[in-house]
Amino acid sequence: MKQHIDDLAIFGGTPTFSSDLHVGRPNIGDREQLLARINDLLDRKWLSNNGPYVQEFEKRIAETSGVKHCIAMCNGAVALEIAIRSLGLSGEVIVPSFTFIATAHALQWQEITPVFCDVDRRTHNIDPELIERMITPRTTGIIGVHLWGRACDVDALTDIAQRHNLKLLFDAAHAFGCSYQGRMIGGFGNAEVYSFHATKFLNTFEGGAVVTNDDELAARIRLMKNFGFAGYDDVSYIGTNGKMNEVSAAMGLTSLESMDDFIDVNHRHYRHYLQELSNIPGITIQTYNEQERCNYQYIILEIDSERAKVSRDQLHKILWAERVLARRYFYPACHRMEPYRSYFPHAGLLLPHTVTLASQVLALPTGTGMRPEDIGEICRIIRLVVANGVEVSGRL
Ligand SMILES: *Cc1c(COP(=O)(O)O)cnc(C)c1O
Repeated sequence: MKQHIDDLAIFGGTPTFSSDLHVGRPNIGDREQLLARINDLLDRKWLSNNGPYVQEFEKRIAETSGVKHCIAMCNGAVALEIAIRSLGLSGEVIVPSFTFIATAHALQWQEITPVFCDVDRRTHNIDPELIERMITPRTTGIIGVHLWGRACDVDALTDIAQRHNLKLLFDAAHAFGCSYQGRMIGGFGNAEVYSFHATKFLNTFEGGAVVTNDDELAARIRLMKNFGFAGYDDVSYIGTNGKMNEVSAAMGLTSLESMDDFIDVNHRHYRHYLQELSNIPGITIQTYNEQERCNYQYIILEIDSERAKVSRDQLHKILWAERVLARRYFYPACHRMEPYRSYFPHAGLLLPHTVTLASQVLALPTGTGMRPEDIGEICRIIRLVVANGVEVSGRL
């Protein structure tokens, strides 16, 4: 147990953990079930192209999200690109900069300009108050990101999109299984996009999906993700290959069966962190509204270096030395990554909250791979560091 700063690994002590604790270590469901499904699909010799597992997976995702259509894809980034293209977005699209780079890249990849909007300091989500002044004659849409699974201000965004005749898309990569005002995320805007990447709450190894209630849009997306094939020899649209394969769908179906367990574990870990990390000066743990459905996939701290007497980057370094592989999400923010940094070198002037959060946020490990005692130890290290803040900083 670390009681003195000399015990910290970074100052020569031994690391607290004998193996690395990762953020986003995969949640894996019932292995026997998964292997049985993989055996089945091998026997069937139907490995891709809208196989029975993909169809079943799409049905289950649509049901869970309360939407009419789910189109499963090979990953979330391609699902975003296809959703953007199928909605006919062009010119400029308003997006937060405080998000994973794929949100911006999915636009720029098709030569649509992401116009970066600041986020609300408290919710970390795009601030609807700031959107209208960013709309130009070239603007065709808005992409909201339900960051950490906490829903955007869907009502305000819907209202703005309607008044300005803009398309509204949600990057719901973090938000599978979460709700907004009691309604499941998935059915808002023109469409929403999930990621089922290995690091996400529910995974299909790699995978993603577009969900929508729009019949016509869903039909177009189905064509687009399969080269535009409308029949065996009939291509009716420009398309790409965004298909999910059967092994991924088998993993997804198996994950879905354990979804409630994943949420229970994440929720317990979240409550544990909350209890141990509340009331530390300069450290704020992001809370979830317990009235809503939530997957509790992210444990997010904000570190105010003035008050904590230690910076986010110093704490990050200390935790890594202890083999706690905390992550600086989303650092740098999109506008500080290429090509956006070169295109818009002064974008940060309009993004003060994004700039602050990118320097203060730290994600801690959680998920089914973590034991409660691991969380106790991580919190102990953080308390020790903050209690000795100035001295710790001085030695780094
Ligand atoms: C993970 C993620 C994506 C991309 O999903 P992939 O399945 O990894 O391609 C997009 N947006 C956000 C916010 C993400 O976190």
